[in-house]
Amino acid sequence: MKLIEGSLCPLAPLRFLCDEMLINVAQWLRVAGYDTSLPAPGSPDRQLVDCSRAEQRWLVTADADLLEFACAPFYVLFLSGRDDQARLRELTLRLDLDWCLAPFSRCKNCNTPLHTASEREKQLFHPGPGGVSNDTVWACVTCRQLYWEGSHVRRMRSRLEAMNAWRDSH
Ligand SMILES: [Zn+2]
Repeated sequence: MKLIEGSLCPLAPLRFLCDEMLINVAQWLRVAGYDTSLPAPGSPDRQLVDCSRAEQRWLVTADADLLEFACAPFYVLFLSGRDDQARLRELTLRLDLDWCLAPFSRCKNCNTPLHTASEREKQLFHPGPGGVSNDTVWACVTCRQLYWEGSHVRRMRSRLEAMNAWRDSH
Protein backbone atom coordinates (compact mmCIF):
# COMPACT_ATOMS: atom_id res chain seq x y z
CA MET A 1 0.00 0.00 0.00
CA LYS A 2 1.36 3.38 -0.96
CA LEU A 3 0.95 5.94 1.77
CA ILE A 4 0.14 9.37 0.45
CA GLU A 5 -1.85 10.49 3.42
CA GLY A 6 -1.64 13.99 4.67
CA SER A 7 -0.19 15.65 1.63
CA LEU A 8 -3.26 17.64 0.73
CA CYS A 9 -4.81 18.78 3.97
CA PRO A 10 -5.45 22.51 3.52
CA LEU A 11 -5.41 23.37 7.18
CA ALA A 12 -4.06 26.60 8.52
CA PRO A 13 -3.65 27.03 11.36
CA LEU A 14 -2.85 23.42 12.10
CA ARG A 15 -5.48 21.68 14.18
CA PHE A 16 -5.56 18.06 15.24
CA LEU A 17 -7.71 15.19 16.36
CA CYS A 18 -5.59 12.38 17.81
CA ASP A 19 -6.89 8.85 18.16
CA GLU A 20 -7.16 7.47 21.66
CA MET A 21 -3.87 5.56 21.39
CA LEU A 22 -2.04 8.84 20.98
CA ILE A 23 -2.90 10.65 24.19
CA ASN A 24 0.74 11.56 24.86
CA VAL A 25 1.16 12.93 21.35
CA ALA A 26 -2.04 14.95 21.84
CA GLN A 27 -0.79 16.36 25.12
CA TRP A 28 2.49 17.48 23.58
CA LEU A 29 0.62 19.17 20.74
CA ARG A 30 -1.45 21.05 23.32
CA VAL A 31 1.64 22.01 25.32
CA ALA A 32 3.08 23.47 22.11
CA GLY A 33 -0.14 25.45 21.61
CA TYR A 34 -1.98 23.45 18.95
CA ASP A 35 -5.74 23.02 19.15
CA THR A 36 -5.95 19.23 19.62
CA SER A 37 -9.03 17.12 20.34
CA LEU A 38 -9.22 13.62 21.70
CA PRO A 39 -12.27 11.45 20.97
CA ALA A 40 -14.44 9.80 23.57
CA PRO A 41 -12.98 6.33 24.30
CA GLY A 42 -14.32 3.70 21.94
CA SER A 43 -15.44 6.15 19.24
CA PRO A 44 -15.89 4.29 15.95
CA ASP A 45 -13.48 5.02 13.08
CA ARG A 46 -16.20 6.55 10.93
CA GLN A 47 -17.00 9.03 13.67
CA LEU A 48 -13.35 10.08 13.96
CA VAL A 49 -13.11 10.66 10.24
CA ASP A 50 -16.39 12.60 10.11
CA CYS A 51 -15.29 14.73 13.05
CA SER A 52 -11.93 15.56 11.50
CA ARG A 53 -13.64 16.65 8.30
CA ALA A 54 -16.35 18.64 10.02
CA GLU A 55 -13.88 20.45 12.28
CA GLN A 56 -11.08 20.65 9.68
CA ARG A 57 -8.53 18.81 11.79
CA TRP A 58 -5.74 16.44 10.93
CA LEU A 59 -6.74 13.00 12.17
CA VAL A 60 -3.48 11.78 13.68
CA THR A 61 -3.59 8.04 14.13
CA ALA A 62 -1.52 4.94 14.76
CA ASP A 63 -4.27 2.81 13.20
CA ALA A 64 -3.54 2.01 9.54
CA ASP A 65 -7.18 0.96 9.04
CA LEU A 66 -8.11 4.63 8.92
CA LEU A 67 -6.22 4.94 5.65
CA GLU A 68 -9.00 2.93 4.01
CA PHE A 69 -11.39 5.87 4.12
CA ALA A 70 -11.80 7.73 0.84
CA CYS A 71 -10.86 11.07 2.36
CA ALA A 72 -7.70 9.68 4.01
CA PRO A 73 -5.27 11.49 1.70
CA PHE A 74 -6.81 14.77 2.79
CA TYR A 75 -7.30 14.32 6.49
CA VAL A 76 -5.62 11.21 7.90
CA LEU A 77 -2.06 11.42 9.13
CA PHE A 78 -0.91 7.89 9.94
CA LEU A 79 2.12 7.56 12.20
CA SER A 80 3.95 4.26 11.83
CA GLY A 81 6.34 4.71 14.77
CA ARG A 82 6.09 2.12 17.49
CA ASP A 83 6.42 4.45 20.46
CA ASP A 84 5.59 8.04 21.30
CA GLN A 85 9.13 9.28 20.68
CA ALA A 86 9.18 7.82 17.17
CA ARG A 87 5.68 9.13 16.46
CA LEU A 88 6.49 12.63 17.66
CA ARG A 89 9.57 12.68 15.44
CA GLU A 90 7.59 11.43 12.46
CA LEU A 91 4.93 14.08 13.00
CA THR A 92 7.62 16.77 13.27
CA LEU A 93 9.25 15.84 9.99
CA ARG A 94 6.02 15.27 8.08
CA LEU A 95 4.55 18.66 8.91
CA ASP A 96 7.73 20.57 9.71
CA LEU A 97 5.95 21.14 12.98
CA ASP A 98 7.02 24.04 15.19
CA TRP A 99 6.90 22.84 18.80
CA CYS A 100 7.58 26.36 20.06
CA LEU A 101 4.48 27.86 18.41
CA ALA A 102 2.88 29.09 21.63
CA PRO A 103 4.02 26.96 24.55
CA PHE A 104 1.66 26.81 27.53
CA SER A 105 -1.16 28.61 25.79
CA ARG A 106 -3.45 25.55 26.09
CA CYS A 107 -4.26 23.11 28.86
CA LYS A 108 -2.62 19.77 28.13
CA ASN A 109 -5.40 17.92 29.91
CA CYS A 110 -8.42 19.41 28.18
CA ASN A 111 -7.29 21.70 25.30
CA THR A 112 -8.84 24.85 26.81
CA PRO A 113 -6.89 28.06 26.07
CA LEU A 114 -5.05 29.18 29.20
CA HIS A 115 -5.15 32.67 30.62
CA THR A 116 -3.06 34.49 33.20
CA ALA A 117 -4.36 33.40 36.58
CA SER A 118 -5.93 35.92 38.88
CA GLU A 119 -4.93 35.96 42.56
CA ARG A 120 -8.30 34.42 43.36
CA GLU A 121 -7.76 31.58 40.90
CA LYS A 122 -4.31 30.90 42.34
CA GLN A 123 -5.92 30.44 45.74
CA LEU A 124 -8.98 28.55 44.55
CA PHE A 125 -7.22 26.15 42.18
CA HIS A 126 -4.18 25.52 44.31
CA PRO A 127 -5.21 25.77 47.94
CA GLY A 128 -2.41 25.93 50.45
CA PRO A 129 -0.35 28.51 52.23
CA GLY A 130 -0.20 31.51 49.92
CA GLY A 131 -1.49 29.64 46.86
CA VAL A 132 1.08 29.84 44.08
CA SER A 133 3.43 32.75 44.66
CA ASN A 134 5.04 32.70 41.23
CA ASP A 135 4.45 35.81 39.09
CA THR A 136 3.71 33.91 35.90
CA VAL A 137 0.85 31.51 36.47
CA TRP A 138 -1.64 30.32 33.87
CA ALA A 139 -5.02 28.84 34.66
CA CYS A 140 -7.45 26.49 32.93
CA VAL A 141 -11.03 27.37 33.75
CA THR A 142 -12.32 24.00 32.61
CA CYS A 143 -10.28 21.63 34.76
CA ARG A 144 -9.00 24.22 37.27
CA GLN A 145 -5.40 23.35 36.60
CA LEU A 146 -2.63 25.88 37.20
CA TYR A 147 0.66 26.00 35.32
CA TRP A 148 3.64 28.08 36.36
CA GLU A 149 7.29 28.49 35.57
CA GLY A 150 8.97 25.85 37.68
CA SER A 151 11.12 22.83 37.12
CA HIS A 152 8.31 20.85 35.48
CA VAL A 153 7.48 23.57 32.97
CA ARG A 154 11.20 24.15 32.32
CA ARG A 155 11.64 20.46 31.54
CA MET A 156 8.74 20.58 29.12
CA ARG A 157 10.16 23.69 27.43
CA SER A 158 13.48 21.89 26.96
CA ARG A 159 11.67 18.93 25.47
CA LEU A 160 9.83 21.19 23.00
CA GLU A 161 13.14 22.72 21.92
CA ALA A 162 14.67 19.26 21.54
CA MET A 163 11.77 18.19 19.32
CA ASN A 164 12.21 21.31 17.18
CA ALA A 165 15.86 20.36 16.68
CA TRP A 166 14.67 17.28 14.76
CA ARG A 167 13.67 19.62 11.94
CA ASP A 168 17.20 20.93 11.57
CA SER A 169 18.88 17.54 11.80
CA HIS A 170 16.74 16.05 9.07
ZN1 LIG B 1 -7.84 22.05 31.48
